[in-house]
Amino acid sequence: MLGTQLKDGRKSPSVPTASVVLGLFGGFAVRFGSLNQLGAQFKIPGRWERWVGSRKPSADTMAYSLDRLYLNLLRRLLWTIAMLCKRKKVFRRLFPDIHWVAALDGIETYKSQKKDNCPHCLTRRLVSGDEYVTEYYHRDVVLQLVGVTPAVVLDVEALRPGETEAAAGLRLLRRFLGRHPRYLDAITLDAFYLQAPFVKELLRYGLHLVIVLKQENRELYQDALGLCESIPAKITKVGTEEIRFWDLGELRTWSQLGRGVRVVRSVEKELTGKRKNGDFVFKQTVRDWFWCVISPEGRGRVDGELIAKWGHARWDEETRGFCELTQHWHLDHCYRHNANAMLAALMILFLAFTLTTIFFQRNLKGIWKKFARVALARLLMDDLAGHYYGSFWSTAPA
Ligand SMILES: [Zn+2]
Repeated sequence: MLGTQLKDGRKSPSVPTASVVLGLFGGFAVRFGSLNQLGAQFKIPGRWERWVGSRKPSADTMAYSLDRLYLNLLRRLLWTIAMLCKRKKVFRRLFPDIHWVAALDGIETYKSQKKDNCPHCLTRRLVSGDEYVTEYYHRDVVLQLVGVTPAVVLDVEALRPGETEAAAGLRLLRRFLGRHPRYLDAITLDAFYLQAPFVKELLRYGLHLVIVLKQENRELYQDALGLCESIPAKITKVGTEEIRFWDLGELRTWSQLGRGVRVVRSVEKELTGKRKNGDFVFKQTVRDWFWCVISPEGRGRVDGELIAKWGHARWDEETRGFCELTQHWHLDHCYRHNANAMLAALMILFLAFTLTTIFFQRNLKGIWKKFARVALARLLMDDLAGHYYGSFWSTAPA
């Protein structure tokens, strides 16, 4: 599949694009930190041929190809995997639900205070010591499934200089929802997406929108806060946590939207204790969440507490993996400062992350299940780079 689909803009290349992408895919899966490290690996005779093919790319070839990789073909691979996972029932639910929910988030993949010759850098002014400096950076928006594992990445889009994250997010959503109108039921978004034009446009795709409500959206927030004082909360206690929950129904305060917006609130108090110098010290943490829920006409009403679960699923690091991706997969590391290369590398990284997650979820037997993902990556390296034929995953040592 890879060989026929992937292409780049090189003229008569001696190393096929598929070998470059497979090489990078393998490099990401086993956690290589730079193209040079990976290129050096590929120079060793007899290593990686089984995975990459007989024509292995050098670091320069990988860089040259990444700059010219056709991004839409990579994107189609992300989509194909997402479709296949659904059709083949690969997903596992983290809580009971029949909806398919995705979160839209921003991530930063590059920042430097040194000016480079890159026309796609975004800029911001920062205070450094007692002066202002300009920082150059790259930021992307990522659409990723939540509430299920594997948390498949559905699409990625880079912010262009001068545009807002909401503009890039809208471009991504138009593309994904235009191609896959029935894949999702709901999208959860950060507070700055709570803008009337954005919401109006998205409602045309027939999805539930769940958007964090913060004080910046002053009138709606104040109105919701006031209502909570007159409506009794539903109180649930789980262990040392107490949740007070309100479903406030439709509020009409947000006049620019021209329609009602449902607001739900969850105040979560948790008491944690730990021993310090022989004494037991208690600490209370309070999280106060407001979500706006905007549902298209004719779509059924979603249970309020389920909406809170969707909202929380955005922060479920364990399954979404941003933390793991940053710590162990070099997500915020720039392999090459070129806009096309960065987006291509990011998509290959997500492909590697998703597919290895699925592979480990489905194939780990016996003692392998007890291995940390970093240790498994090392084993995967033996598998991808070595001469080993057959599979050692299905026959774990006792
Ligand atoms: Zn740049």
